[in-house]
Amino acid sequence: MAGAGAAGLWAAIHAADRGPVTLVAPDPSGGSATALAQGGIAAAVAEGDDPAAHAVDTMTAGAGLSDTEAVRILTAEAPSAVAELHRRGMAFDAGGAPTLEGGHSARRVLHAGGDATGWALLLALVGAVRADRRVEWVEERVTRLLGDAGAIVGAATDGAGGEIEGDRVILATGGACGIYGRRTGPDRATGEGMAIAWDAGAALADLEFVQFHPTALDVAGRPARLLTEALRGEGAVLVDAAGRRFMDRFDPRAELAPRDVVARAIVEVRERTGGRVFLDATGISGVRERFPTAAASCAEAALDLGADRIPVAPAAHYFTGGALTDTVGRTTVRGLFACGEVACTGVHGANRLASNSLLEALVFGRRAALAEDGAGPVVGDQGGKPPVVPRAGLPLQEIRSLADRFLAVTRDGRELGTVVETLAGGGPATWTAPTLVASLLAQAALRREESRGGHFRTDFPEPHSEWRARQVVSTSGWSRVPVLG
Ligand SMILES: Cc1cc2nc3c(=O)[nH]c(=O)nc-3n(C[C@H](O)[C@H](O)[C@H](O)COP(=O)(O)OP(=O)(O)OC[C@H]3O[C@@H](n4cnc5c(N)ncnc54)[C@H](O)[C@@H]3O)c2cc1C
Repeated sequence: MAGAGAAGLWAAIHAADRGPVTLVAPDPSGGSATALAQGGIAAAVAEGDDPAAHAVDTMTAGAGLSDTEAVRILTAEAPSAVAELHRRGMAFDAGGAPTLEGGHSARRVLHAGGDATGWALLLALVGAVRADRRVEWVEERVTRLLGDAGAIVGAATDGAGGEIEGDRVILATGGACGIYGRRTGPDRATGEGMAIAWDAGAALADLEFVQFHPTALDVAGRPARLLTEALRGEGAVLVDAAGRRFMDRFDPRAELAPRDVVARAIVEVRERTGGRVFLDATGISGVRERFPTAAASCAEAALDLGADRIPVAPAAHYFTGGALTDTVGRTTVRGLFACGEVACTGVHGANRLASNSLLEALVFGRRAALAEDGAGPVVGDQGGKPPVVPRAGLPLQEIRSLADRFLAVTRDGRELGTVVETLAGGGPATWTAPTLVASLLAQAALRREESRGGHFRTDFPEPHSEWRARQVVSTSGWSRVPVLG
């Protein structure tokens, strides 16, 4: 097992029922997205709600690209995942009564510690794993996989752990938004697991879809800390530099429009006015107490959430693509499994519904832990054009600067072409994980000549039916897999 966020820890707990587990991962308190998650975990547990309605909302957010069966499983198994968390002692706010969040048609999101759900979850899971004698925790990083006769039989680490053998490896190493300078997540989430899987021959999918959170702190020299959309749910508004609201000009739902709509609106207002955009939460009574994480993030930048207008701009938030898996976490390489943000199960399609990713980490982490080995997802003909081989590692700062400028909320074919060329190499594979991920993302975004979900092309601003397909890539080539249903 590699990685100790929600996916890796939950998978380790369940894999221990099948046999001894070696968990290879640094301490997750400083470097996991799970620790930062604010909003909550979605599950149809309220009276009158049901998993089928949760599935419809998930499919709607996915903009035609979600995998119907994966979504059915995600939403059907959500209530039992939450019940198991309760049984294992995780205390949710309000006795587990869910709240309403954007894109959900019912009260369906469970919180813990106000806006510190991820931290509470991490504490509970780390405690459970540390107490489990069947799990040996090696605090190192996996650097590559060990193969034998076409199957994965272990992993090598960067420390004294050396080479660790096992009957399978589960990658749960998190996402890749760390290839962006403006990001809400951890610094080191630069797609290491995706590069490790790629190196072993696994197919990756949906790499062009990145979810940008519209309201991240925008103060020079400060991290782009997330200001949860629950603030807008409670009445916070977006205003331009002159103090005027603008969201109703872009969408009848105004500040409560989907994340991609709000993010594009903010970008457009900033470009048109040449000024900044602000989140005004001063009208919410008791806002500092109700949103302690957001208030602390503002205070770090000498701003008062209860009294000041807070400068905000979009930031990379969730990496939708990853190692392609089936519904039990099997990748296209035998013996290699993936779960959590490093994986692409297809549940999120072109855009993720809020609070579905911690849930995905739990549901598919457990499934990967308990699955039998066997053939993974079928991707059909991979004989498409081969991917452009990335160049030897470019400094991370340069990749971040390219990603912030050209792989962000709005994209354009000419600029994407420039990124692909800048990152092209062709020599021996000496690329680093961020170069590989940024290069494949740019190639996927250039190939997808339409706009859908988290991918918006100014030169192709509409969705096209022939693009109702998932882009899959491996070292053998690109392919388009139609999404049915
Ligand atoms: C600010 C913020 C708020 C969010 N809020 C929500 C929310 O409210 N609800 C929701 O559902 N989702 C939310 N998300 C998304 C969600 O937190 C993540 O998608 C989810 O936590 C991913 O879990 P994971 O276990 O896959 O990855 P992570 O939690 O990122 O854990 C990955 C772990 O793998 C380790 N690792 C990396 N590389 C290696 C390696 N080579 N070897 C060994 N270990 C390695 C890392 O150190 C890390 O500990 C939020 C994300 C952010 C950034």
